[in-house]
Amino acid sequence: MSKVLVFTEFQNGNLKRSSQELLQFAATTGKPVVALALGSQAKTGAAQLAHHGAQEVLLCADTAYDAYNPELFSVAAAEAIQQAGASLVLASASSSGKDLFPRVAAKIGAGVVSDGTEITVSGDDVKVKKPMYAGKCFATAQFENAATKIVLMRANQLPVAAADTSKTATITEHAFTKPSLKTLIKEVVKGASEKLDLTEANVVVSGGRGLKEAANFSMLNDLASVLGATVGASRAVVDAGWVGHSMQVGQTGKTVAPTLYIAVGISGAIQHLAGMSGSKVIVAINNDPNAPIFQKATYGIVGDAFEIVPKLTEEFKKILA
Ligand code: FAD
Repeated sequence: MSKVLVFTEFQNGNLKRSSQELLQFAATTGKPVVALALGSQAKTGAAQLAHHGAQEVLLCADTAYDAYNPELFSVAAAEAIQQAGASLVLASASSSGKDLFPRVAAKIGAGVVSDGTEITVSGDDVKVKKPMYAGKCFATAQFENAATKIVLMRANQLPVAAADTSKTATITEHAFTKPSLKTLIKEVVKGASEKLDLTEANVVVSGGRGLKEAANFSMLNDLASVLGATVGASRAVVDAGWVGHSMQVGQTGKTVAPTLYIAVGISGAIQHLAGMSGSKVIVAINNDPNAPIFQKATYGIVGDAFEIVPKLTEEFKKILA
């Protein structure tokens, strides 16, 4: 039977939630599930792949794979897909996923659909729902004449059950061909404010131009630390240099889909909504009752962020203490 290969990613030794989602979904297709794991974290984390549904693990713990390099990764992924004989490949629609898999598709003659928010697999038929025009409408994509179908899913779109630690997998260590590299990653510098990658966060508190100046993000940091949230931002404040681009949510930033998204002083431009409208509960705090964000919000608070946010922080402290 044709297999599903899941491209998996680790962060701080833990299997990313997006990879857990993909493995658990792959297990529901009834097809054998192969996980591809690259880099030194993969060795210690291999058991987690089995706990989330992998029956086979293709492992390469070479430290050369610790930082993403498109030339190196595209060869490894192409070889792994061919070795596994996978007809369906699932990966996260992260920035590296969207950089990597079109290259892999070109190498092996596969079809690729990115930014999936829903996926159905019935035999060889794969349908993927994806947003178009910054989320103004959705399209359902299908593959034609593609022996290998690659689907890049947005994070936080598929359910995740608790890991089943009784499950095991066959682990095969593998050395993939290393091409002579034209580019070398010297160092990866992480944004200091980012505790957990925005795309993985369960709670996000984002700030916009309504915060008036960079220093006022401290108010959001306080709320975020009480809620265990990650702080995001609109493009207006990123462009103003208040925070780094890694915090930008939206069409030209990151796509988030947390359980709770709190937008503070953000007007709700279509390009911002494109990155967060998949959030389960949206709370908007804005002093303009006509701000477009309120049309998307589950709960809206009309008022001054400088009064409301510190009060919310105090109340959450009491509840969560
Ligand atoms: P504003 O639109 O200025 O809104 C500030 C809000 O704060 C207002 O609604 C105001 O009522 C409120 N406010 C003011 N004072 C207070 C207060 N004291 N308390 C409470 N509320 C207050 N934007 C993104 O965010 N992400 C993207 O990825 C992105 N990509 C883009 C791509 C393109 C091609 C283009 C053209 C634009 C893109 N934008 C993006 C920009 C987008 O169009 C908006 O300009 C931007 O989102 C506005 O940011 P903002 O909501 O912080 O600012």
